[in-house]
Amino acid sequence: MTKEVRTRFAPSPTGTMHIGNLRTAIYTYLIAKKDNGKFVLRIEDTDQERLVEGATKIIYDTLKMFNLVHDEGPDVGGPYKPYIQSERKDTYLPYAKQLIEEGHAYYCFCSKERIDNLRTKAEENKVQFKYDRHCLNLTKEEITKKIENEPYVIRQLMPDTGELKYQDDVFGTLSFDNTILEDQVLIKSDGFPTYNFANVIDDHLMDITHIVRGSEYLSSTPKYIHLYNAFKWDVPTFVHLPLIVLEGGKKISKRTGDGIVSILINNGYLPEAILNALALLGWSHGDEKEFFTLDELIKEFGIKGISKSPSLFDEAKLRWINSEYIKNMTDEQFHTIVNERLKNVLTQKLDTKKIAKILHKRTEVLTDIENNVDFLNEVLEYDKELYFHKKMKCDYEVAVIVLPQVISIFEKLTSWDHDAIYQSLVNLANNLEYKNGKVMWPVRVALTGKSITPGGAIDIADILGKDITIKRLKDAMDKLEKN
Ligand code: GLU
Repeated sequence: MTKEVRTRFAPSPTGTMHIGNLRTAIYTYLIAKKDNGKFVLRIEDTDQERLVEGATKIIYDTLKMFNLVHDEGPDVGGPYKPYIQSERKDTYLPYAKQLIEEGHAYYCFCSKERIDNLRTKAEENKVQFKYDRHCLNLTKEEITKKIENEPYVIRQLMPDTGELKYQDDVFGTLSFDNTILEDQVLIKSDGFPTYNFANVIDDHLMDITHIVRGSEYLSSTPKYIHLYNAFKWDVPTFVHLPLIVLEGGKKISKRTGDGIVSILINNGYLPEAILNALALLGWSHGDEKEFFTLDELIKEFGIKGISKSPSLFDEAKLRWINSEYIKNMTDEQFHTIVNERLKNVLTQKLDTKKIAKILHKRTEVLTDIENNVDFLNEVLEYDKELYFHKKMKCDYEVAVIVLPQVISIFEKLTSWDHDAIYQSLVNLANNLEYKNGKVMWPVRVALTGKSITPGGAIDIADILGKDITIKRLKDAMDKLEKN
């Protein structure tokens, strides 16, 4: 019987989720679900100095928004609980002590000042800092005495010779010279384990089969493997994910918002589209297919398709994917979104179904909705040059002829709907022996103060309603007469 696949997403609660974290969560989820396995959420908060209030909630909310449902985790429980490392604090020390007894770790009483000095010296000499093993050969008696009176850390004793080879499912066989590995701290002076220690202990205790994480951990993995070997534990499968790079050398940053998931959402991207784009950020299906739902990904995703070269996050591509998702919504679905977004934007009651209709095809990100309908609330200052339109054979002199007639026709119009408005304007064009556009254009400019709008004159007049339409046409005439 093969082992059940168990993967874990193990974020540190830092207060934001960026596209790198989210992509890791997506791939980790897919690798578990593909094989009907379990997707576990573990919160890695051993770095107590970096804790941020509310950060864990951001992690839960993000996973939920993207439908990455975890089978086990702090909020849903599970057979391996607790799933928050700070609540597992007492788990780690006995394992560290076991390593000491078996000669794979040792107590270190060096002060922070001493370590800082060593670090400065290493920097001055331009060599990689390595602890000098000052405390390695303390006698049992010395240790017993010091433990009672002095703060200490526990360090892993790395082998001095040889190399460590390991297999990564994405990066292939990797080998590392053991002599470059530092005697890393396993237990800190505050009693908390380091991430480097806790992740190994927890992955083992939680029966994790696949470690999926960013490639920044590739070079620490040999140290973890030495720990697995010291404990004589099975080494899990490693799946390190390619680096994500942003365009123009930009960095993922909480300050600028670049690559931050909540900012993408605020900027009008749909979770489904972000998920789709991130799934393709470092993985390819092998053919041209570019659109995947989460269910399709579960079926079609595979570690084999993950690339090891850095993946460029291309916002233009996300935008395109997003616009396709919006286009594929039903009128009903799109209207629900428009209604919600315009709820606090529109200053008068207008028919949002009609507004949704003119917006649907031209919306690429959801913020386009509110950004493209500001004219519905009011007509902002505009230049009468706007009436000039070469193709429509229109200018403000034409507008001065057309607009008063439109006003009097509209005032007499008994039913106010798309067809009636259309017919009345076409009749006027016929009477004046104008092409339709020569009438429609000045009406659109007068109603919106813009040259580019979603929908044309008729749609907009229909949405604004008779009273507002006539008022705007009169205001436009006033403006033309004044100039
Ligand atoms: N807590 C680590 C991080 O947030 C997780 C790394 C891992 O998955 O092992 O980067």
